Amino acid sequence: MRYLYIAGKWTEAADDGTSQTINPYDATPLDTLAEACAADVDAAVAAARAAFDEGPWRRSTVTERAALLGKIADLLQRDREQLAHTESLDTGKTLNEARADVDDTTAVFRYYAGIAGAHAGRVVDPGRPHVTSRITHEPVGVCALIAPWNYPMLQISWKLAPALAAGNTTVIKPSELTPLSTVALVGLFEEADIPPGVLNLLLGQGGTAGQALVAHPAVDLISFTGGLASRHPNIVFDGTDFDTVVDNALTAAFLHSGQVCSAGARLIVQDSLHDSFVAELAARADRIRLGSGLDPETECGPLISAAHRAKVERYIALGLSEGAELLAGGKRPDSADLAKGFFLRPTVFAGCHREMAVVQDEVFGPVVTVERFSTEEEAIRLGNDTSYGLAGAVWTSDAGQAERVAGALRHGTVWINDYHPYLPQAEWGGFGKSGIGRELGPSGLDEYQEKKHVYHNTSPAPAHWFSG
Ligand code: NAD
Repeated sequence: MRYLYIAGKWTEAADDGTSQTINPYDATPLDTLAEACAADVDAAVAAARAAFDEGPWRRSTVTERAALLGKIADLLQRDREQLAHTESLDTGKTLNEARADVDDTTAVFRYYAGIAGAHAGRVVDPGRPHVTSRITHEPVGVCALIAPWNYPMLQISWKLAPALAAGNTTVIKPSELTPLSTVALVGLFEEADIPPGVLNLLLGQGGTAGQALVAHPAVDLISFTGGLASRHPNIVFDGTDFDTVVDNALTAAFLHSGQVCSAGARLIVQDSLHDSFVAELAARADRIRLGSGLDPETECGPLISAAHRAKVERYIALGLSEGAELLAGGKRPDSADLAKGFFLRPTVFAGCHREMAVVQDEVFGPVVTVERFSTEEEAIRLGNDTSYGLAGAVWTSDAGQAERVAGALRHGTVWINDYHPYLPQAEWGGFGKSGIGRELGPSGLDEYQEKKHVYHNTSPAPAHWFSG
């Protein structure tokens, strides 16, 4: 049984509600969870409110807050194997991917521990004698932090580390589908002696606990990552190393079975390379080994749920009806061992064009579509042919072309000759409908700070605006 964490105590739901999280590998129950109701949301927000208004956290020094974040980073590394195991079981991703997630989460806590003191404000030159003027950065207050299921611990760290570094108090809600690693993370904060009320954990559904949390009048800031996203262009020019680019196209599209917000699911390939490229891509996709994330032989795990797989299958059917040419996958695996889990074979569609729903919508599964282009201008036009813009990539051996295309793409991240790496010190977020604001980097801390201008006249005198 996993509990809520409110005001420094593990607790059942006020109405004793519970739910189950299941293993996507075989649909068996993994754990029972307290399911927060409205009274629990009230209690968690009240605890965070009291901790912010009256507790020591907001008045603590930046050194103290950085020390806590540093300690969390140490504890994450101490428990690396166990946490990766939990994340793999709950999400279905491979152990290697889950280990990388723990390491990335650690890096995020270390990064914000490191910069917390460097972004405390600035001095402004008022251009007047006897006046000092400064901008101070202060915490916003009670932050409600809501994370998606695909990178549970990592996504919550992008919010929690800067929120705490800035002196806020928090109520966090992981996805109901993958809450276990977040529960473990809260355990590490308890071990590190975080003051009661600074970090509160709600477990439960988006439509109930999540909705009550975001509507709560005592919440000052909401940070939400979730649905509404698109497919991201991965543009391949002729002349790059063939094996490298095919290999990376597989990683871009099929890492975590394509359930990555920035998955390179929309391949845009130059004419002259196109046929050999798609043939090799499909052959390699067919060889991807599916299985349990805990099995070291596994390269791709299951999708997160039966409902999500059904949605991806609807898109595959739609792609076929729109005339896309199926070159690999498109169905569940034949193996009886995998029959209970939510598996789908990695799927390659060629002959795609921009009007198809399977090209424009975020399928969020192991489905890559391939379009052709002939000129650089056409590639850019296709790459920008979306109302979203989280990330995209360009593969070319021509450095000038790489810079031209990267400069023209309207996406928050552009990779040149790579796909997927992100850095805690570099801003992450989208153009267009792909999101509001930025996470990570200094901007990721900025989001959790109010800016105050303190203007100090050290030699006050009458202003003489009025004579009477
Ligand atoms: P989701 O929108 O279903 O849920 C996200 C979170 O919001 C969950 O914790 C959920 O319980 C909660 N929620 C749902 N409805 C709510 C409501 N009415 N009020 C308050 N909270 C509510 O998204 P998901 O399926 O968990 O995540 C997958 C999506 O997240 C994909 O679209 C993916 O692209 C996106 N994503 C984006 C990024 C990014 O960096 N931009 C990163 C990871 C995932």
